[in-house]
Amino acid sequence: MLRDQFGRVHNYLRISLTERCNLRCFYCMPADGIQLSPKENIMRAEEIQILASEFVKLGVNKIRFTGGEPLVRKDFDNIATRLSKLNCEMAITTNGILIDQHIETFKNCGISKINISIDSLKKDKFNSITRRDYFNRVMDNVELLFSQGFNPKLNVVVIKGVNDDELIDFIGLTKEWNTTVQFIEYMPFQGNKWDFSKTVNAEEILRNVSRMFGERNVLKVEDKKNDTSRKYKIKGFSGNFGMISTVSNPFCDSCNRIRLTANGRIKNCLFSGSETDLLTALRNNENVEELIKETVFNKKSQRGGIKNFASEEGRLMSESNRSMILIGG
Ligand code: SAM
Ligand code: SF4
Repeated sequence: MLRDQFGRVHNYLRISLTERCNLRCFYCMPADGIQLSPKENIMRAEEIQILASEFVKLGVNKIRFTGGEPLVRKDFDNIATRLSKLNCEMAITTNGILIDQHIETFKNCGISKINISIDSLKKDKFNSITRRDYFNRVMDNVELLFSQGFNPKLNVVVIKGVNDDELIDFIGLTKEWNTTVQFIEYMPFQGNKWDFSKTVNAEEILRNVSRMFGERNVLKVEDKKNDTSRKYKIKGFSGNFGMISTVSNPFCDSCNRIRLTANGRIKNCLFSGSETDLLTALRNNENVEELIKETVFNKKSQRGGIKNFASEEGRLMSESNRSMILIGG
């Protein structure tokens, strides 16, 4: 088992398949763009398979594909097929644009846990957040998934003055759809112009929702072990909604996640300042198992050691972290 120095067991691997994306969400991709890794430094399909199986030998039983946008990778179907043989729960976080082209792979490979990121239900606002014009395709693909029996979750990064006026509309979707809408607190990374005053915390969201639906109609849903979101539902609605409060109320105590970036580095935390180059080690025939164990063991107790994002120290630490598009959320 992969245990860190605080006894937390790590069984959930998030693999970023690419640094590229067909959207340009302003909170994820800096306006000036990013420096892509040279192509030869990106993990190849067979390397992803070898590294993923090393993690599985060490107790990982859930793998999520992320990115960049995982579905822009030309050999996505090949990678998914290879990893489906590892007998893990398979998941993906995607912006949804290319889902219709891969839905058969999702079915064949057992990719049933699907998170789709959509930050506005208004086309113009969606386009201004993502700096691209794909709203209709994303919505069509969300509906396609429901019609084919999937129950995708919807990820919404809530940003004050941008989309915090749409929370009720998003929750409205859960009336008919048996989905979870996950409201994610806006987090700071290199070049994303984060500011504490633009975050919206769980209490503010709950206050708003209670005002709208009436306090006694907002019911707490039981959270599962290792859940990052605190879930609620509206009485009588099919689905539910949750808040992921990384900034104001982190869930680090129960963290079970490890991240592998597209250029083959382990990040033991989204916010960790250090990375372990597993891909070079693999290519040099070094002992990757020991590197994985050591990296997980050294994980800091909370948010890569950042105590307070709003402090000067927190600002400097998160400014020196990779952009989210280069980590994989
Ligand atoms: N392209 C895919 C997508 O958008 O779902 C996968 C990669 S994206 C980096 C993974 C998740 O990170 C998305 O749900 C996105 O909204 C979230 N994310 C990106 N930047 C963020 C930020 N600064 N704060 C909070 N969440 C962020
Ligand atoms: Fe691309 Fe996802 Fe980042 Fe948006 S959040 S720019 S879709 S990687």
